[in-house]
Amino acid sequence: MDPFVGSTARETVERVAAQLGRSAASADVASYLDQRDTLRHLRRRFLVPRVADLPQADLSLVDGSQECIYLAGNSLGLQPERARTYLMEELDKWAKTGVHGHLGGSRPWAWAENNIEGLMADVVGAKAEEVALMNGLTVNLHLLLLSFYKPTAARHKILLEDKAFPSDHYAVESQIRLRGFDPEGSMLRLAPRPGELTLRTQDILEEIEREGDSIAVVMLSGVQYYTGQLFDMAAIAEAGQKKGCFVGFDCAHAVGNVELKLHDWGVDFACWCSYKYVNAGAGGLAGAFVHEKHGRDIKPALLGWWGHDLKTRFLMDNEMQLQPGVSGFRLSNQPVLLVCPLQASLEVFKEAGMPALRRKSLLLTGYLEYLIQHHYREDPARPHAPHVRVITPSDPRQRGCQLSLCFSVNVCRIHQELEKRGVACDMREPSVLRVAPVPLYNSFGDVHGFVQALGSALRACGAL
Ligand SMILES: *Cc1c(COP(=O)(O)O)cnc(C)c1O
Repeated sequence: MDPFVGSTARETVERVAAQLGRSAASADVASYLDQRDTLRHLRRRFLVPRVADLPQADLSLVDGSQECIYLAGNSLGLQPERARTYLMEELDKWAKTGVHGHLGGSRPWAWAENNIEGLMADVVGAKAEEVALMNGLTVNLHLLLLSFYKPTAARHKILLEDKAFPSDHYAVESQIRLRGFDPEGSMLRLAPRPGELTLRTQDILEEIEREGDSIAVVMLSGVQYYTGQLFDMAAIAEAGQKKGCFVGFDCAHAVGNVELKLHDWGVDFACWCSYKYVNAGAGGLAGAFVHEKHGRDIKPALLGWWGHDLKTRFLMDNEMQLQPGVSGFRLSNQPVLLVCPLQASLEVFKEAGMPALRRKSLLLTGYLEYLIQHHYREDPARPHAPHVRVITPSDPRQRGCQLSLCFSVNVCRIHQELEKRGVACDMREPSVLRVAPVPLYNSFGDVHGFVQALGSALRACGAL
């Protein structure tokens, strides 16, 4: 049987364990799954840091020569192997041909980003002409809101999460002020029910139904950065549009993580960054999406020469021939040095395909959840024993690869002890450890190793 299809992660892990005659927590289960993982060769397309190079590693606890357990792809994806080659090509071209690089070589700077927008579009489920690679995420969010948020006295609210990512919160707040409205009355913040940490789809849809007539824009994330919850973007888009709202998503944590179908879902606009699951390096070239249905009715509020039709852009006649849709939102020529690593990564996505990555991801993250519950689940019979709680939804359809862990002991200490043991994962205030096994380059062995290190870290904190 193929362990990657057809059953839940729990069933698969237990069946493999029974077949091997081992405990489900045995490293043999991880090896078995790694051997059958048809994507495992993709790890070699990325540079995995060695333990000895991690500043916090304690080499008396872990072998410095081995690859670290890198579970921080939600924060910064690993470097694609070909990023350096492509960067060197452009530096060489610059050195040897100077200004001629604009039009010459395999990656002419004047339209370098256009060459990879098709690859990006495949990852987000869009048509190439619905995607623009430009700027940073927050800049793109502002540019999009300038066009999609046109508040009136009756319809002036923006619906967002109560604990949205700070940059999104500030962007929305300042856009509301810019239009002369008061964030107090126009920022509609959706909070989970008392005692709950994630939003219920039903509650999101009911809020849209109840408040929809006064909402101009629904602006949620695709995957919530703190809890790892994946929202039902299709249902939210449908509900919002039924009430006459524009619906946009910040896909920072969704792109390259879960399968997106921005076009089919009819999402009005979206933006994302490229340095998390898309592995384009810190501050990488960000993305923007405007659905083709808005090719004519939505215009950019701000113009620059890069929004001008390429065919006549350089005639310099100062008569704007605006490209339709998102392409018209371009302002400046794009930095080719940011195109290079993004291209290197998107080529690996093309090789793998999002459906296969998601299939592996469901089992990889399910395996992580299984092992954590196996070892560290809260035991009602021992209420004071240290335990780990997964706050990410247990329904795989409501999450991507990240699990957010809460501990009954101090999370900073746990994080430090994990880093000493050669694990890279990230801690987010106030109290979670975000652990993201990325199907492109993480293995079942990484997940198993992490859970071992976690046990050792808990013991070191005096908690086990
Ligand atoms: C990572 C992230 C950002 C970062 O914004 P930049 O403009 O790339 O610095 C913004 N919003 C969300 C939801 C994020 O996850």
